[in-house]
Amino acid sequence: MRDFFRHVLDPDIHLRRRLFQLLSTIALAEFVIVTIYTAILNENALSVAVMLFGTFLFAMTVSLTFRSGRMRLGAAISGLLYFSIYPLTFFSSGGIYGGSPPVAAFALIYVFLVTQKWERVASLLLCVTVDGCCFAAAYLHPELLTVHTVAVEHAESFLAVLLVTLLVCALFAFVAEVYAEENRIVQRQKKQIEDLNRAQKRFFSSMSHEIRTPVNAIIGFNESTLRESIPDEVRENAENIEIAGKLLLHTINEILDMSRLETGGMEIVCADYRTTAMLSDIVSLVWLRAQEKGLELVIRVDPAMPTALHGDEVRIKQVLLNVVSNAVKYTREGSVTLAISGRTDEHGVFRAVYDVTDTGIGIREESIPHLFSAFQRMDEQSNHAIEGTGLGLSIVKQLLDLMDGSVTVTSEYGKGSNFHIEIPQGVADAAPVGVVNLQRTRREESARPAGAFAAPQLRLLAVDDTPMNLKVVQKLLKDSGVSLDTAASGAEALRLTAERRYDLILMDHQMPEMDGFECLHRIRDQEGGLNCGCRIVCLTANIGADMERLCRREGFDGYLEKPIRGKVLEEEIRRLVPEPAPRRDP
Ligand code: ADP
Repeated sequence: MRDFFRHVLDPDIHLRRRLFQLLSTIALAEFVIVTIYTAILNENALSVAVMLFGTFLFAMTVSLTFRSGRMRLGAAISGLLYFSIYPLTFFSSGGIYGGSPPVAAFALIYVFLVTQKWERVASLLLCVTVDGCCFAAAYLHPELLTVHTVAVEHAESFLAVLLVTLLVCALFAFVAEVYAEENRIVQRQKKQIEDLNRAQKRFFSSMSHEIRTPVNAIIGFNESTLRESIPDEVRENAENIEIAGKLLLHTINEILDMSRLETGGMEIVCADYRTTAMLSDIVSLVWLRAQEKGLELVIRVDPAMPTALHGDEVRIKQVLLNVVSNAVKYTREGSVTLAISGRTDEHGVFRAVYDVTDTGIGIREESIPHLFSAFQRMDEQSNHAIEGTGLGLSIVKQLLDLMDGSVTVTSEYGKGSNFHIEIPQGVADAAPVGVVNLQRTRREESARPAGAFAAPQLRLLAVDDTPMNLKVVQKLLKDSGVSLDTAASGAEALRLTAERRYDLILMDHQMPEMDGFECLHRIRDQEGGLNCGCRIVCLTANIGADMERLCRREGFDGYLEKPIRGKVLEEEIRRLVPEPAPRRDP
């Protein structure tokens, strides 16, 4: 009996198999009881023999079905068997005046639950026909019925009602137990998925850190090599390392972003931002690449565009940068145009419209629907020399979906493509931007002589638990004359900041014992306060917009991603300490 219940309630066994076992056992019990009862009450020896034979056949069918696992066949045979015996029991037990009607109901429920598909339809039709014929025959020819005494009729009826009640109760108990078990499984799985998601997020966060730390060293040391006067051959090698390093970093970023999108770890956080500042960031990042390829980069901003918008600037920038970089990447000659305008849609929402048009290789019409699928690269044969993972546009599409934006592509193969992007945003300052000429600003900037960065009057502190990272900063600032102290932990940084005044502190985020955030707050609250108001920049290998926002919220004055580029570091120093105070000791 214990085995029976364990089997019926075992969630690892298919539900239909368990249901078949439960119902067939009840049906078998019914067969046995009716046979005993017929033997006791019935004068008719033939019906007792038929019941005995039927019970035996049914028990065999059920047992064979379990052994062979052929549920459908077993269920169909059981149903047939039941109904080939039913007419005999019907007529020998007083027709509708005995226990037959509830038993017929039992049989219909049994057949309905244990059979499937066409067997179910056929079995139910057969059942209803057999039932109908029995009832009609009993009505038309009452003489066919074995008439029992009223006492026997009542006893039979009572027995049948008990059997059917037993069936219905067992069914409900079974369903309730299955439901509870399913619930337990769902809860368990939900918890497993949540744990897995958390572990995945932790993994990607630490992967981001673990991968970026050595890449930081490779790119940083390589950049400092490039700044030296070195033989041509060494320079060529270092330049190749730089290209490969950048590509590796780009690929890592794409893979990490993709995983974050897939695990739901990417959040859209909106804030006010200035339209032209965002565009100028994009231009500064693609300008050089376009220039190197001899492409004209045209930026057209509708003068009526609002001066400031409210949206997720970092993600919008990521989307546009991806599409504009692709346009530059897949265009050999001609131009790449980024046109920005806006419109208010039928619901009164402002939609910023970004059109990226190129005169590049174009995309075949049949490839356009697959453009946004992950890992899909079009025209592989002719584009094999152009590096890429096929993840960029998939990330673009997913980010746009998160922001309720849209993208449509039109392209003429061999002539060029147009990516039309719309992103609904709030308007933070409706004043029109007026005429903006980002190209000119850029051209003027690039025409300006670079000039070596020199700031001998500055005193900086770099805090990082990885000695290699500190070396990279030292090397990158070597020629600037900056006086640089280093600290290998938060505790050491606190000791140094208590003793000396710094113009700027470069603080690693992820450090054991005391992380960059805690160290920042402790410097700000330091007794004696030599560096309470000092500008502190977070240097992190944990990339992402969320990280940048977190840093700003914590009170960092700047945020730099590793690997740090010499130029970016210098610009950040210039931005935060434009005119350093004369050095005062301590
Ligand atoms: P990839 O890393 O390969 O550039 P993307 O997801 O950014 O991956 O782009 C997917 C594919 O779409 C590219 O491999 C390229 O074939 C095609 N593609 C994207 N942008 C352009 C474009 N502006 N012109 C031509 N083909 C493009």
